[in-house]
Amino acid sequence: VPVVALVGRPNVGKSTIFNRLIGERVSIVEDHPGVTRDRIYATGRWIGKEYRLIDTGGIDMSNEPLMNQVRYQADLAMDEADVIVMVTSVREGVTLEDEEVAQRLHRTNKPVVLAINKADNPEQRQMIYDFYTLGLGDPIPISGSHGTGIGDLLDKIVELFPSDSSDTDDDDSIKFSFIGRPNVGKSSLVNAILKEERVIVSNIEGTTREAVDTKFKTADGKEYTMIDTAGIRKKGKVWENTEKYSVMRALSAIERSDIVCMVLDAETGIIEQDKRVAGYAYEAGKGIIIIVNKWDAVDKSNNKFDEFTKEIRKEFQYLRFAPILFVSAKTGQRLNKLPELINMIHENRARRVQSSILNNVVMDAVAMNPTPTDKGRRLKIYYMTQVAINPPTFVVFVNDVELMHFSYERFLENQLRESFYFEGTPVHIITRARS
Ligand code: GDP
Repeated sequence: VPVVALVGRPNVGKSTIFNRLIGERVSIVEDHPGVTRDRIYATGRWIGKEYRLIDTGGIDMSNEPLMNQVRYQADLAMDEADVIVMVTSVREGVTLEDEEVAQRLHRTNKPVVLAINKADNPEQRQMIYDFYTLGLGDPIPISGSHGTGIGDLLDKIVELFPSDSSDTDDDDSIKFSFIGRPNVGKSSLVNAILKEERVIVSNIEGTTREAVDTKFKTADGKEYTMIDTAGIRKKGKVWENTEKYSVMRALSAIERSDIVCMVLDAETGIIEQDKRVAGYAYEAGKGIIIIVNKWDAVDKSNNKFDEFTKEIRKEFQYLRFAPILFVSAKTGQRLNKLPELINMIHENRARRVQSSILNNVVMDAVAMNPTPTDKGRRLKIYYMTQVAINPPTFVVFVNDVELMHFSYERFLENQLRESFYFEGTPVHIITRARS
């Protein structure tokens, strides 16, 4: 999916444009405690083409001088995006900051679109010609507040999407990534895995983006693609340690992965930021492994293993299904277990259950634990059928959707897990009324 970045000095209306571009369809989903959507990153669609939009202004670099902020944002966009949209405003004319951003963008070979915001009336639309001096081609007049010009802008953006995408998504290697907050040891894990698994098939360079995924083979001939994440090679960039940036990178990696390795730091324990990142992977329906890294650095005298396991289960209740692996990127301890675990989850995610067997399990479940009632009416389950894999998704047909309680759905999920072995993957159950 192509990535589009918005850059420009503060107050030109980038976040309004952001919302216009994605049609204000960014949902703030809060199914799980600690999970929020970040508004700097969203998926949009125009004439049937999907793209990811990022607002570089949403990454807080406010303790830097203004000129540096606009520089960093331009650099960030040049690193991350396939198409860059420079936004400025007709009100102030061409400013010094605009010139600085434009000058930086001249150095990239990525396509740049120049959008002039706040062109609300014909008079103001006349003034956009001043912006030719930026040397970024035809300025496109838009109005974030009125919504005019947005369609033209989108047409132009879509036209500039890279045609060939030598993305990794079309081979059948198992794709996985390490996600987690800065300094938990993601880069160290990547390097340690590469040392362990010596048969590197290829380094897959994104055509335009800076991403470098690594494909490797294990002794049994299985192929894996390790998805590049979290500023792994961006060490030293100003924005690397901002939370929004790492969330943004994590989201992008999660989308491209089959299985996500959520990395925790044994030394520091679990903090709030860890929980946020895990929630995204869960919502996306990806396979999940919880990795406790830096296990070498822990004093294991007093039951540390059990303690940590207990804490993880308590803090990540919605990840009950995820296996936990205690490793050390430093010593390589237990890292050889990772490919088998990934494999196992990959298989579980792709499992299809025959309807007849599935319905036997459901009937047994109902016999064991009667369905809930409300105001004298009892939930009736007619049948269940599997409608998708990756993750396994089931539709259960009932007399009245309102009668299905969350706790009963959870019970059914547990029965499915016990019978069909879905370790490491979310299982989705959708309740539908049968007419
Ligand atoms: P990232 O930001 O998540 O990519 O984290 P890094 O891989 O850069 O690691 C952050 C710090 O933790 C570095 O100083 C590493 O040397 C250290 N580190 C990473 N893995 C381990 C480990 O298994 N054991 C110990 N003791 N330190 C580690």
